[in-house]
Amino acid sequence: GRRIVVVGGGLAGLRTCEALRAEGFDGELELLCAESTPPYDRPPLSKSVLLEPQDTTFDVDYAALGVELRLGARARSLDTAARVVHTDAGEHSYDALVVATGAAPVTLPGAGRQLVLRTAADAERLRNELRPGSRVVLVGAGWINAEIATTALALGCSVTCVEAGPRPLAGPLGAQVAERLHTWWDGVDLRCGTGVGEITPGGLTLDDGTALPADVVVTGIGVRPDVGWLTGSGLEIDRGVVVDESLRTSDPSVFAVGDVAMRWSPRFGTRLGGEHWDEARTGPATVAGALLRPQSPPVFDPIPYFWSDQFGHKIQFVGHRSESDDMVVREGADGKWGAAWFDAAGQLTAHLSVDSPRHMVQARMAIDRRAVVDPDAIRDLSAPLQAP
Ligand code: FAD
Repeated sequence: GRRIVVVGGGLAGLRTCEALRAEGFDGELELLCAESTPPYDRPPLSKSVLLEPQDTTFDVDYAALGVELRLGARARSLDTAARVVHTDAGEHSYDALVVATGAAPVTLPGAGRQLVLRTAADAERLRNELRPGSRVVLVGAGWINAEIATTALALGCSVTCVEAGPRPLAGPLGAQVAERLHTWWDGVDLRCGTGVGEITPGGLTLDDGTALPADVVVTGIGVRPDVGWLTGSGLEIDRGVVVDESLRTSDPSVFAVGDVAMRWSPRFGTRLGGEHWDEARTGPATVAGALLRPQSPPVFDPIPYFWSDQFGHKIQFVGHRSESDDMVVREGADGKWGAAWFDAAGQLTAHLSVDSPRHMVQARMAIDRRAVVDPDAIRDLSAPLQAP
């Protein structure tokens, strides 16, 4: 029978194994995991897990699923000609390979200690440091650090955040939304427009040379797809592993899914990097279909979606905004608000909602049916997302 190897035991890797079996694959199936623990869920790591220990391991019977789980088997290189993955735990040959190695946090230069938050071990390390009165310095006011700031404040830490941009998330969300998010950071000593020089043994130094002392420094300035091990494999890489709308790489026996993949989106006419839980969850069904039914591969072109829980609010973002899109802020009742982005033709491209899941669902449907919106009318959050 055929032998399929999945590299990376995260959400995407695990769901790929499950989808292959659900589609009837009965050959050998191996899941290579860099970490020493079976696959677990990551979003809680920056939320509830920082407050109290919690096991987020996915509840899976690997023997029943017919998956050989290889823990501590970090892939080091890939030989696509010989169809072999070289790992810390030996060589693994394949007929088809699925790359699902996710992404890894970017770190800063300097000899000091800096924590990041990507793995369960990272979360445990950080939780042990978030004690009342401890001086926590967060580098970056992005998604993850906003969630960490929320918990650190709740635990009585003294929280400082250094952000290079003019406001939190000004890059991804634009100045108007960022200005509103800024107000949520009240209890934090937030220093925007401030760059970090390096991490030092006692804290860090700012761009201008000022020393900022800290008991713990957390660097949260983004992630990069984990593709270092693919150097020399010949696979096309552009930030992540380049795949088409059926998640196929430039090599016909290799697929990629989840945070590591840069997929082609026919809907938005551009390459999109994942980095969202929802794509790691839903993409694997397409990989299984494309792998087992190559004559009629399914197409994966979802509307990107992610959420963040910060400072007592739930942010939900759907769609894909271009730099040239216009936007309006939408005012609602009971503290709910939103933002809508639209292109030159007035077509809705992306939407953000705060504390209102219903508006996220409405926006997703409107983006899907390519709704054209009236910018003035939709300033009211309760207005329908379509032209009258
Ligand atoms: P990963 O979950 O990163 O899994 C990849 C796996 O591959 C890892 O286990 C890694 O150890 C392993 N690996 C890496 N390199 C190798 C190698 N060379 N060989 C073998 N194995 C390897 N998304 C949201 O939409 N909303 C949220 O609120 C949200 N919160 C998050 C909070 C935190 C703290 C983190 C870290 C992420 C959060 N995300 C959130 C993002 C979401 O968790 C990811 O999009 C999702 O985990 C991606 O799944 P993946 O399987 O592609 O990658």
